Amino acid sequence: MEEEYIYHPLENIEDVDLFYEAVERQHLTKAISDERPYTYWTIELYDQKNGIRGGGGLGILAADTRRVAEKLGIPFVLITPFYPYETRQVIKDGQVFDEYLPVDYHDFGFRKVDTVVIKCCGDICKLDVIEKKFNHTRILAITEPNFRELYADASGSDHRLYQEVSLGFGGYVALKLIGLKPAIIQLNEVATFFAALARLDELVRNGMDFYEAVVYTRKHTLYTNHTLVQAAEAEFSYEQFERYVFPNLKSKAVKRWLSEKFEDGRIKLSSITIEIAELKSGVSKLHARVANYHDVAGNKVKFRAITNGIDMDTWVLPEIMRYYHDTEVLDDVNLPTINYAERLESLTVEDIVRCKNRGREVLNETLRNRPDHHGKILNFSEDDFIFDFKRRFVDYKRPDLPFRDIMRLRSILEERGAHYILTGRVHTGDQRMSGILADILRRVEADDYLREHVHYIADYDENLAYALSVGSNAAVNVPIVGLEACGTSWMKDVANFNVLISTHDGGVADGSVNSYLNVGGSDESEELNMLYQRMEEAISIWQNDFDLEAAIRSQLIEFLPVISGTRMLRDYLDFLFPV
Ligand SMILES: *Cc1c(COP(=O)(O)O)cnc(C)c1O
Repeated sequence: MEEEYIYHPLENIEDVDLFYEAVERQHLTKAISDERPYTYWTIELYDQKNGIRGGGGLGILAADTRRVAEKLGIPFVLITPFYPYETRQVIKDGQVFDEYLPVDYHDFGFRKVDTVVIKCCGDICKLDVIEKKFNHTRILAITEPNFRELYADASGSDHRLYQEVSLGFGGYVALKLIGLKPAIIQLNEVATFFAALARLDELVRNGMDFYEAVVYTRKHTLYTNHTLVQAAEAEFSYEQFERYVFPNLKSKAVKRWLSEKFEDGRIKLSSITIEIAELKSGVSKLHARVANYHDVAGNKVKFRAITNGIDMDTWVLPEIMRYYHDTEVLDDVNLPTINYAERLESLTVEDIVRCKNRGREVLNETLRNRPDHHGKILNFSEDDFIFDFKRRFVDYKRPDLPFRDIMRLRSILEERGAHYILTGRVHTGDQRMSGILADILRRVEADDYLREHVHYIADYDENLAYALSVGSNAAVNVPIVGLEACGTSWMKDVANFNVLISTHDGGVADGSVNSYLNVGGSDESEELNMLYQRMEEAISIWQNDFDLEAAIRSQLIEFLPVISGTRMLRDYLDFLFPV
């Protein structure tokens, strides 16, 4: 009798053994090997332990994806630039300033592998290839002394194109140099397009028919989009491509194909990335649905929704991870177990308070080196109530929203003696947002109560993100609905037993509005009113054991499966290797 083949979608697997069994069944182990790894290309990596500091969520996601692959034993190479300078932000008299600090890769365990060359502007540019190996994964980086910092100059500038071409062409040669062939090319946003182009060029140069090479490259390339509107993307000119891109292509057919993609002498990288990648994903359910991209034929691009996750071992307090594992809420690879929701019934207020008290200690330790905007070292007791807003200081995230009715904010904080910690970097050159920050701080300064209870901490980074997630009580996340692609800082909050106050946007909208403290409304003034109500509610939740258990449990039941980085990587593998 013929054995019936039963397909078990990876979605239903509950433990490690089943995970690997499913992986084997899908022939993943044949598709991916040490010599043919999963390759992940990113212009930004946020991994301070390994000496690379990013700008925000895009880089955090890249670092977490590699860490999860490492834990799962998946051969995985992350290819990224190593920027010899990093940007730090300091605050003086309410004004933020950028400082550029040199970083030496030798200090972080990288070793130089070799040098590769690319051609630009009629010259040969030498790039150093450096790598750092872990057990199953590695970081392969491209660098040179004049590479400058992440996001130096405007998008669409020569230097950006130079950095992107260096990563794509240089990184592709580097991969070959260390004897690897990519099984998969995942492009973390369009700045990495040139990696897929380098592959296409290589296949054609090695004798493959151009159309076959396009089909082959497309099949193995995944483009992960994080942006909502194509129109907002910068363009490059044909003339810039003549200086930086065409000289690096050996195949005439590929050159011709690329030249034909220009419209009025200009090109957006997304339009060619869409063509070179058959697989396309967005970073939350909502984002995949609303991302408005069109291919050259004018058809709307379909993105598979693969919601971002986080590496829980990195972002969750060890005491809380122990709770999840001891109670079998999470399995060994940090996937929620089949009956995790029932198991969460056992979560008690004592568990929550014990863990949060430990988290408060971690926060205080971190704040010891991170004075507030008055230069004051903050130290909080277990009984202090802390709201935090910790995210990049950009328009759509509305860091100023809670300050619109500053007397209302004051009365909410004053009622409980609560503190509001604000942290987030202003994008270099963003005059508008640095003005808004200065204005918030000026108004806070003018109020004798708020002056002591609202604190801005400069130079938001991973350490602060972690410390606030584990150590505060309630997090404020209020992007304009429709503009957040996913967001991951709210995941750090939910996983660390914080009460989440949020608009229904990005990955939060993967869940139900009733599972957290939702801020909704038909206009901004309604949203503002609701935000203040939710802040009052968060305070009252923390004053009632039953309410606190219920709130934390409800958030976890709804979002733990979303938050799990293992779930995310599994979704990618499912998409890349369908049965
Ligand atoms: C988690 C994290 C982010 C991601 O923030 P979102 O606004 O949620 O996308 C950005 N920067 C740092 C330093 C982080 O730790």
